[in-house]
Amino acid sequence: MPTIRFSAIKETFSRQPIEFSIGDTKVSELFGENVFNRKAMKEFMTSEAYDSVMNAIEKGTKIDRTMADQVAAGMKSWALSKHATHYTHWFQPLTGATAEKHDSFFEPTGDGAAIEKFTGSLLVQQEPDASSFPNGGIRNTFEARGYTAWDPTSPAFIMGRTLCIPTVFVSYTGEALDNKTPLLRALQSIDHAATAVCQYFDKGVKKVTSTLGWEQEYFLIDTSLFQARPDLVMTGRTLLGHAPAKGQQLDDHYFGAIPDRVRMFMRELEYECYLLGIPVKTRHNEVAPCQFELAPIFEEANVSVDHNALIMDVMDRVANRHFFKVLLHEKPYARVNGSGKHNNWSLATDTGVNLLSPGKNPKSNLQFLTFFVNTIKAVHDNADLLRASIASAGNDHRLGANEAPPAIISVFIGSHLTATLDALEKLEGGKMTPEQKTDVKLNVVGKIPEILLDNTDRNRTSPFAFTGNKFEFRAVGSAANCGVPMAVLNTIMAAQLRTFKKEVDAKIEGGMKKDEAIFSVLKDYIKASKKIRFEGDGYGDEWVKEAEKRGLSNVKTTPHALDFYVSKPALKLFEEQGVMSKVEVEARHEIMLEEYQKKIQIESRVLGDIAGNHIVPTAINYQNRLIENVRGLKQVLDEKTYKKVAKEQLDMIEEISGRISVIISNKEDMIETRKKLNKLEDTRKMAIDYCEQVIPFIEKIRYECDKLEMLVDDEIWPMPKYRELLFSK
Ligand code: ADP
Ligand code: MG
Repeated sequence: MPTIRFSAIKETFSRQPIEFSIGDTKVSELFGENVFNRKAMKEFMTSEAYDSVMNAIEKGTKIDRTMADQVAAGMKSWALSKHATHYTHWFQPLTGATAEKHDSFFEPTGDGAAIEKFTGSLLVQQEPDASSFPNGGIRNTFEARGYTAWDPTSPAFIMGRTLCIPTVFVSYTGEALDNKTPLLRALQSIDHAATAVCQYFDKGVKKVTSTLGWEQEYFLIDTSLFQARPDLVMTGRTLLGHAPAKGQQLDDHYFGAIPDRVRMFMRELEYECYLLGIPVKTRHNEVAPCQFELAPIFEEANVSVDHNALIMDVMDRVANRHFFKVLLHEKPYARVNGSGKHNNWSLATDTGVNLLSPGKNPKSNLQFLTFFVNTIKAVHDNADLLRASIASAGNDHRLGANEAPPAIISVFIGSHLTATLDALEKLEGGKMTPEQKTDVKLNVVGKIPEILLDNTDRNRTSPFAFTGNKFEFRAVGSAANCGVPMAVLNTIMAAQLRTFKKEVDAKIEGGMKKDEAIFSVLKDYIKASKKIRFEGDGYGDEWVKEAEKRGLSNVKTTPHALDFYVSKPALKLFEEQGVMSKVEVEARHEIMLEEYQKKIQIESRVLGDIAGNHIVPTAINYQNRLIENVRGLKQVLDEKTYKKVAKEQLDMIEEISGRISVIISNKEDMIETRKKLNKLEDTRKMAIDYCEQVIPFIEKIRYECDKLEMLVDDEIWPMPKYRELLFSK
């Protein structure tokens, strides 16, 4: 009899919370302790070096070599004061995870002694042995090696005993091989484009930064249960498992009390976050059982993206200490809510204004409306690219699964702002009379602040929703690197703002007053982007039909969604905004397709193994017991009684054998299909065929396995069931 399942359950239930407390220490005393932040820089660096880093952060100026030596010296003394022994260039390759290669500070001096060494050149540039990171052919085409280069805009930090230096990862010819490089370029592009538009309203604005506040959803599971599920171990999601009798229909987990064991994990995680300067603010249960959310206060987008990449790693480490596994997969359990990573996005000026926050007077509200309407127009014109930016094998299970935003991109703005835009749309084009102007200012633009205070108007089903002072991009998957969607969102917005500026300037040159010109262009945009706005239920079937009527795309699978990256307009857009060259986009496209295909391939193999080696033998085992039992009945009962009582069991035997044979034949066909597809040369074709030909087998096999789970003796079922995975704490 398999005991692994029951011993895993027993172990799980016997676990006690692992106490964690920071005692009397205040969070403010811990915050940023392990970050080479402004305070630490001031203390450990010359004022010259400090100024050069500040200039690099604020103005993007280059740091020269001698200055880099000074920065490195300061960074080293700070790190040694924190007992660090190693340093690493920390980067985000296209695999989605973070990468690091640790080198020791220690260097022998040749006379039997040693010193701790770290120079400007070691800080600024490194050449990791990175031949195995995906590069989509870039490094073969250009130069065999890639190097990492320091990103001074994201502060260095210490993890364990290692000084981690955030870096970009590029090929020798300068092509991006990571997720950070395009993001930094997009942030630069939006800075210039948005600053230029801000000049219409405030000449004092010199810089615009993009802000990001992500909300990370995740599942926790006890280590023992996790280990007893080969599918979770190998693919991050359950490939089989019948829905439990009680799911999430009672909503009793959401905002319920956090279990003690989980609370202790969260406490320690938050402690680690504080040390790393990640401003974690909220924690709560999510909709599904054993699902939770963690969210920090928003930060400048580059730092925020780094913090999210970092936290996904830290979560895992802390969870291990509490005998938990963190599941970051978008859909670890079928028929249970999946996990997302809402990206709250806005733009902020160096004068302290949130450009998506309605202001106090008509003038600042016109600025708000400008950025607000331009965002809607950018999303309208580039909805497909936004869809591509969130595409992944995991997220395919979540988007449109009736509890997550659909794969159809639309924008929700609430009834009040809808009314505002409707009023603006009705304005006469061209010159306005003084009365009209006053009317617009007082009754349309002037009314925004008071109405937005009443922010009850929230639509949780929209993939891209305005939430009072920011847009929330909800379709992002929980395992994603937010740098990817953030690069795309900021790029499309930058392009949109540049077009807007051109159009308004042309009207001003044509003799129109500035405000009128702005109104007039905004009015056109409101009209032109109307079909992307949707205020209704995004989860309903009605919306799918309606969206189709409106001509909005509904691309459900990753390999097709990824096509938008390499469409002509997208390539032009990336190139024009200085975000990615054609080569870089095509390389990424290739890498993402390959990653998709590999994931499906692994899932298919793992399910094949589980079905063949765990489920079928167990089912046969049970079937034999039934057969024996029926034989026994026949021996001890008279013919008439036997016929009466054995029927159901005979039916069961038939059903079990039927299901077994469907599993076996589908498994064989699935293997044959894989063999055939693996011969394909074209990555895109292979990804599409895996999607269209292999996934249906995975679904069919799962269906039969889940039916068997309901038939076979619980005692011999070889793996923990959903009710155990989801309800054991
Ligand atoms: P929820 O969406 O769960 O109701 P909140 O609306 O409270 O959560 O906030 C979600 C996130 O939005 C937080 O991380 C918060 O820091 C972030 N946020 C708030 N203002 C901005 C902004 N101007 N730019 C980017 N993110 C923001
Ligand atoms: Mg949210």
